[in-house]
Amino acid sequence: MRRICVFLGSNAGRRPAYMDAAAALGALLAREGIGLVYGGASVGLMGVLANATLEAGGEVIGIIPQRLVEKEIAHRGLSDLRVVGSMHERKALMAELSDGFVALPGGIGTLEELFEVWTWAQLGSHGKPCAVLNVEGYYDRMLAFLDHIVDEGFMRGAHRDMLLVGRYPEQLLALMRDYRAPNVVKWIERSQR
Ligand code: AMP
Repeated sequence: MRRICVFLGSNAGRRPAYMDAAAALGALLAREGIGLVYGGASVGLMGVLANATLEAGGEVIGIIPQRLVEKEIAHRGLSDLRVVGSMHERKALMAELSDGFVALPGGIGTLEELFEVWTWAQLGSHGKPCAVLNVEGYYDRMLAFLDHIVDEGFMRGAHRDMLLVGRYPEQLLALMRDYRAPNVVKWIERSQR
């Protein structure tokens, strides 16, 4: 894995554990020689992650729409800051540059980005791992709801299992490295028959 894209809050959240996890992930990526791709902001957990990666000597590529350069205070100290025209361009470029995706705690922006790359994986548009760093159980209720979606017949269990979940950055990175994308094209063809 050359680069990993991380989605995470533009707020820092209430618990120090969220910032600690962002900092730990940044240091890990730098140590492993894996470049970070993220939303390019200097605020909230996004800023904590970028600073930790840079401080540990890692490469950081930030991608931010022009409209958000001021609102999210674009980080000016990155290895590479790309200002794009729209949110859609941001997400497309983040996906293209990255070999896997991780969501840390965050708000609806984080969820939207995670669900988009995961649904692309479900359709077979890419075979890259999509993962959640479940810091102090932040995502427990979302994960329970995803199980409910499977129980109620709106998603295959195999699709649910494509979303990797780990409590700690090292553990999650190991899961991502071992990930082999399932043959989703076969399921899509079968369900269309
Ligand atoms: P949040 O999790 O809401 O704090 O947002 C985290 C990041 O997601 C921020 O950089 C937001 O600009 C970004 N974001 C918010 N809404 C969207 C969206 N619809 N598509 C892509 N990124 C978004």
